Amino acid sequence: MTFYLSGFRNFPKLWKSNPYFELGPAASSASFFLTVHCVTGNQQRWFSVKPTTPPNSKTLNLLVAKARTHKKRNDSNKQVSSDPHYFAAGAAKKRSHLGGNPQNQDHALPVRSTVQLPTKPLNSEEWDKLKEDFKGKVSFEDFVISQMARSCSSVDVAKSLLAWVAAKHHGIVGYNLLVKYLYLCVFHKQTSEVIDVYEIMKAKYKSLESGAYTLLIRGLIHSDRWREALLLLEDIKKVMDPSKKNYGDCIQGALLHQDVDVAWSLYQELLGRNLVPLLETLKAFFDYGKGINDDHYSNKLLDVLLYLRNNQLYPGESFAHSIKTWFESIPGRQWKGQFTTIQKSGQCSSCGRTIESIQLSPEEYEFLKEKIMRDVIDGGDQYKKTTPQELKRFESFVNTCPPFDIVIDGLNVAKMFPKGRESQNLLGVVSQLAQQNLQLLVLGRKHMLRPSSQWKKDEMEQVQKQAHCFFTDNISEDDPFLLYATLNSGNHCKFITKDLLRDHKACLPDARTQRLFFKWQQGHQLAIMKGFQKSKLTFQHILSYDTVVQTTGDSWHIPYDEDLVQRSSCEVPTKWLCLQRKTQAPC
Ligand SMILES: [Zn+2]
Repeated sequence: MTFYLSGFRNFPKLWKSNPYFELGPAASSASFFLTVHCVTGNQQRWFSVKPTTPPNSKTLNLLVAKARTHKKRNDSNKQVSSDPHYFAAGAAKKRSHLGGNPQNQDHALPVRSTVQLPTKPLNSEEWDKLKEDFKGKVSFEDFVISQMARSCSSVDVAKSLLAWVAAKHHGIVGYNLLVKYLYLCVFHKQTSEVIDVYEIMKAKYKSLESGAYTLLIRGLIHSDRWREALLLLEDIKKVMDPSKKNYGDCIQGALLHQDVDVAWSLYQELLGRNLVPLLETLKAFFDYGKGINDDHYSNKLLDVLLYLRNNQLYPGESFAHSIKTWFESIPGRQWKGQFTTIQKSGQCSSCGRTIESIQLSPEEYEFLKEKIMRDVIDGGDQYKKTTPQELKRFESFVNTCPPFDIVIDGLNVAKMFPKGRESQNLLGVVSQLAQQNLQLLVLGRKHMLRPSSQWKKDEMEQVQKQAHCFFTDNISEDDPFLLYATLNSGNHCKFITKDLLRDHKACLPDARTQRLFFKWQQGHQLAIMKGFQKSKLTFQHILSYDTVVQTTGDSWHIPYDEDLVQRSSCEVPTKWLCLQRKTQAPC
C-alpha cells in the first residue's frame, strides 16, 4: 500500500485516508510506506535552529494510559465523525459562498492566526476549548502540531496534545502527528522519548518514509541503542538512497561510541555513493582524533584534507579550529597553527611561504585542454543536447577567427541584470570590452536574433559589429562551446558566465583532471561585480594564487570560510589556516 503526499495541504487527506496509528496492543502488522514531503523538506531548516533547554518529559506510556481512560466518551466520538467534512479541503470556502454561516464572514484576518500555542501542557477540556475557538480550514490537530514543530514547542505540551487526540479517537494517533512529535523529541534531545516512539513505529509499521527514518536515526545515535540507527540506514537503502545527513548522523553516532572502524567504513560508503559529505561530518573525525596517537587514523584525516583539496571545498571557521587543534595535538610532531591571510603577491603573511600559483603550467594546460576538447568533440552523454553537426559547424567557425581574448556566455550575461532589457545588457558588456581592443566571442541562441521585447534588432546588430558571434540552436547547451572556444584560444583567454560549469566537472574522468579544471576555471572565469551600472563594468579581481587546501609535507595552508561572512559561489575565502611543523631542534 503506497501513499504519496506532497505537502501540508494534503494533511487532511492523510488524516482521513491513511491508516491510523493505534496506541495499544491491538496493533495490526500491515505495512505502509508513506511519503510526507513536508517533513523531509523542512528538516534542514528545523535542525538549524538552536535547541532550547530540554524540558522534563514523561513517557509515552502515560499517554497510552490517558488515552485508554478517555476512550469511551461518546461526545468525542460524535465530534470525530463530523470533523473530516468540516475540515475537508475547500469545504469552508463552499460554505462561505453559500452565505449560510455567519461565523465565516466575521473573520477578515487569516484564520491561521487564531490559535495561540499553549506554553504548558493542557488538559482535555482546555484542548476542547482551544479547538472550539479554532476557525481554520484544516484539521485542528494537524495544524497545531505543525505550528508546534515550527516553533519548537516543548515535548510536554506536544504530548498533552497527543494524549487528547488519542482520547478522542479510541487511542488512535495519526502518523503525521506522531512524526511531528518525534521531530520535537529529537529536536529537544529527549532520547528516552525517541526510543518510545521508535518502539511504537517499529511495532506498527514495517517500513517508514524517509522523514521518519531520518528523525529516528538522528534521535537514536545519542542512546546506547545507537547501533539500531545503522539498521534503519539499511532499511532506507532498501527503498531509496540514504542522504549525506543520514550517513553523517550514523558516523557521528559511531564516533560518539568509539567505534572508529564503523565510522570510517560508513564514510567510505558515503563517498562510494558519490555523496559529498557534510562538513560537520568531516569535522567530527578531526574532533575525535584529538590527542590520538595512531598513524592509521592520522593518515585518514590527511586523506580528508586531500578530499577537500580535490573537491574545492573549504572548511568553516569551527572546522578550521578543529583541524588546528588536531594538528597541534599530535604527540611529538610539533605542529603550530596560525590564522592568517595571503598577500597579493601570493605569500602567506604568517610563514612567508608562497601559495600555489593559479596559473596552469604549459604541461597542465595541454593536458586539460586535450582531455576537455576530446570530451567536447567526442560528445559523451553530457553533450546530448548538442548535435555533432552543430559542433562541427562551430569548430570550423572558430578556426576562421583569430584567437579570442574573452568568450562571453551571451544569454547568461544578458540575464545578469534583471532591470535592463536583455539585448541592452549584453550590448553594454560587449561595448565596454570592445573599447579595450579585445577579441570577443559572444555565444548565443538563435532566438536572440528574433526581435522581441527583450531582444531589440538594432542592439543585436551592434553586438555583432563589435564581437564575433555564434548562435546555436535553441536547445543546445552552451558549456561545450564555451569550453571549446576558450581552451582553443589559449591560456590567455578568459570567459564570462555566471554558470559554474558543475555538470561539466562531474563528467571529468578523474580527480586530477577535475582539480586542474577547477584551477583553470578560477584563473580564467571572469565574474562581473554586482551593482554594475551600465556606465562602468568591473570584474572581480582574479587572484595570482590558488585558493585551495594545499601542503608541502611539513606545512599546510587551508583556506576557510568565516562564520559571519556570506561568500557567493564565484568568490573564494580570504582567511587561511597556516600550519607549520617546527624543525626538530638539534640535540
Ligand atoms: Zn603560512
